[in-house]
Amino acid sequence: MMRMVLLSAFAVLFFTITDAAGAFETDAIETSAGRLEITFLGHGSLMFATGGKIIHVDPYSAVADYARLPRADLVLITHEHADHLDLKALEAVRTEKTAVVLTEACANQVKGGIALHDGDVQTVSGFRIEAVPAYNLVHMRSEGVPFHPKGSGNGYIVTFGDKKVYVAGDTENTPEMKGLNGIDIAFLPMNLPYTMTPEMVADAAKAFRPKILYPYHTGNTDTSRLVRLMRDTKEVEVRLRSMK
Ligand code: ZN
Ligand code: ZN
Repeated sequence: MMRMVLLSAFAVLFFTITDAAGAFETDAIETSAGRLEITFLGHGSLMFATGGKIIHVDPYSAVADYARLPRADLVLITHEHADHLDLKALEAVRTEKTAVVLTEACANQVKGGIALHDGDVQTVSGFRIEAVPAYNLVHMRSEGVPFHPKGSGNGYIVTFGDKKVYVAGDTENTPEMKGLNGIDIAFLPMNLPYTMTPEMVADAAKAFRPKILYPYHTGNTDTSRLVRLMRDTKEVEVRLRSMK
């Protein structure tokens, strides 16, 4: 009897997620803590579902109707640019119980968030989260002014059982990124001129070797070029999803 109840509860939850997110691609990853479902909403926006919990990353109204998506237990915001910190989308997925992890600059606009800095580790909503710096090395808004200055933005490594998932935010192939260890799944941005060229993504991926690499926030950058650059690196599986 108990088993029946549990099964039907799971079925209802699953239906709700697939129904609301039906228009989007979803990948399932098995972890030691159960199945992790990754929904590719577009741009820099992702949704993770696992163990009955929902994580939204950089919810952005331009990619989805967030009123139709599941409410968040946890929201991760990488930086304050309007396509990453969208107060309307955040409002739509936030409840009183939602934890919001963000940067210092975002904390000025969002009440009750938890600001993490480079290297900070904190367990929030039951998930271990590590902040990784996200910044430009060469791509500048104007001379000496990077699109993303060092010390302002975050990437996040989230642990799901035995799997580590790294969402890089708006960044280039920094030494901190290239020095990462044990990343199973990485989301690296390719939106030009703000983030990485395919060459920069390949350089980083060849250094820290995630098992699965999803280019995301791709803009109009040619993802097939990344596939070609990674062809000789068999231990990294490049997966292309619709993440313009
Ligand atoms: Zn940005
Ligand atoms: Zn961006």
